[in-house]
Amino acid sequence: MPTPILQVRDVRKSYGRGQNRFDALKGVSFDIREGESVAIIGKSGSGKSTLMHLLALLDVADSGTIALAGADTARLRGSRLNKTRNKTFGFVFQQFFLTGNTSVLDNVVLPLKIAGVRSGERRRRGMAALEQLGLADKAKNKAANLSGGQKQRVVIARALVNDPRLIFADEPTGNLDTQTGATVEDILFTLNREHGITLIVVTHDEDLASRCDRRIVIRDGQIIEDTSTEVAA
Ligand code: ADP
Ligand code: MG
Repeated sequence: MPTPILQVRDVRKSYGRGQNRFDALKGVSFDIREGESVAIIGKSGSGKSTLMHLLALLDVADSGTIALAGADTARLRGSRLNKTRNKTFGFVFQQFFLTGNTSVLDNVVLPLKIAGVRSGERRRRGMAALEQLGLADKAKNKAANLSGGQKQRVVIARALVNDPRLIFADEPTGNLDTQTGATVEDILFTLNREHGITLIVVTHDEDLASRCDRRIVIRDGQIIEDTSTEVAA
């Protein structure tokens, strides 16, 4: 068995203190294998985004461990943490987080800029990603002037530009109409199947969840269902 890309053990996270303390994750454990597509589903407030932020190393658990490709992520700090996140992960969020008054291409190459890639190479890889998403003709447009579906494709191009091993998508179709949402889903699953990129999708959309290899259901900060055939050690 190859080392799982993510190994999560008894991860807990609370917000606030004292009387205001809220236990958002009450000890979750699972493995994710490279190349899997996994839906994390549950009602609003169940802890999905909290879990995803921890998996994506955007936040730190109160206790428990998360290993990335076999390495304990607690050891990653500062610039090494930023580099790992930037190189290994792509992010597709419901709220697009694009900079509206700069060009589509500039938005897409941001992760490369952060990684210190030189401008000629940035442009080449940015345009390749935009071409893959059918948006090459929009490269010079201001991001603000795109439709919702186009914006989400720009977000996917940006997620792809660093050739990530894993894409995290939090409600990726939540702000899109059904048709456009289906197109965005198709793109994500194509990346998963044809490029072997591990896909972790947070959603409360059952249709989107049913397209994934596996579903992990969260309720009140705990996993109540996991369709993986393998049991975490
Ligand atoms: P989901 O993504 O499943 O809707 P979240 O992980 O965003 O759920 O939130 C889980 C719970 O934790 C919710 O009750 C939410 O109000 C609470 N929560 C999330 N973030 C914070 C925060 N920064 N401070 C306090 N409470 C939070
Ligand atoms: Mg959420």
